[in-house]
Amino acid sequence: MLTLFGKPVAKNILDQVRDKAKQFEKASGHRAKLVVVLVGEDPASLIYIRKKGETAELLGLDHETIKLPISITPDELREYIDQLNANPRVHGILIQRPLPKFTDETEVASWIVPEKDVDAFHPLNVGRLFLGLPCLKPCTPAGIMEIFKHYKIPVSGKKACVIGRSAIVGKPMAALLLKENATVFHCHSKTPDLKSITQFSDILVVAAGKPHLIDASYVKQGAVVIDVGIHHNTNGKIIGDVVFEDVAKVASALSPVPSGVGPMTIAMLMKNTMDAALELANSGSSLP
Ligand code: NAD
Repeated sequence: MLTLFGKPVAKNILDQVRDKAKQFEKASGHRAKLVVVLVGEDPASLIYIRKKGETAELLGLDHETIKLPISITPDELREYIDQLNANPRVHGILIQRPLPKFTDETEVASWIVPEKDVDAFHPLNVGRLFLGLPCLKPCTPAGIMEIFKHYKIPVSGKKACVIGRSAIVGKPMAALLLKENATVFHCHSKTPDLKSITQFSDILVVAAGKPHLIDASYVKQGAVVIDVGIHHNTNGKIIGDVVFEDVAKVASALSPVPSGVGPMTIAMLMKNTMDAALELANSGSSLP
């Protein structure tokens, strides 16, 4: 059984970003820049943001975190985003989730200009993804596609099952697999008899957000299994949606948690920031 570690895949992506960042700075006289907007003080978000900043720094990208109070109004938040949209020195904008209850995340995503939307949640990027057109792609599913490429796992012609239909993982994952010519079965919490679908799938991507939902009885012999879930169990250990030791007995390849999909998400965010900067520079755009 092949363990699909994300680190070597992420390293290749980050090396490419580092090279491009150097060239970009040389050609333009300034660095590509990612701005993360945080509303409130969610402790997990603070950790994620610090990691994003550290990674950006290592690659030679500029980064800034704008911390806004939880008391901010939607109009004020939009004003901040408009300023970032208009700033030619800012190439990537990410609104850290979760957002406070008063905001509609989909609405807020549509305030970022699509060219700087490095999370790829703007309806235009979502639409382009589903149409199979070039666009910024959501980091986690795009990272999973890089894992398939790196480990030479064929996707075309395979029966692929995606469990989960969130806008951040499940839906774009299904779109990317479909674009690569997989036959996609898209399952969710209302899917009856989940096992009957997973058991004949060659590829299984599990993004249900349910600890240890999938054991070996769900998995076809020789299938490739990707575990997107992240949970802390009662012992403080990080576990996924898949029972690793059990599924490892039947799968031909399986991504671990931690160290599987996780490292890819941040690597793809850096790639998206660099791609956005290059695209903006090439188009000579003075957005918006
Ligand atoms: P979500 O809660 O928004 O969506 C979960 C989806 O799973 C829903 O569409 C739901 O219909 C489906 N689902 C729930 N229970 C199910 C069941 N029993 N059978 C079939 N379908 C079921 O979650 P999300 O944001 O997509 O995240 C999923 C998991 O992936 C979470 O554990 C999250 O922490 C993790 N995650 C990891 C990364 C990473 O970088 N590794 C990135 C994003 C999310």
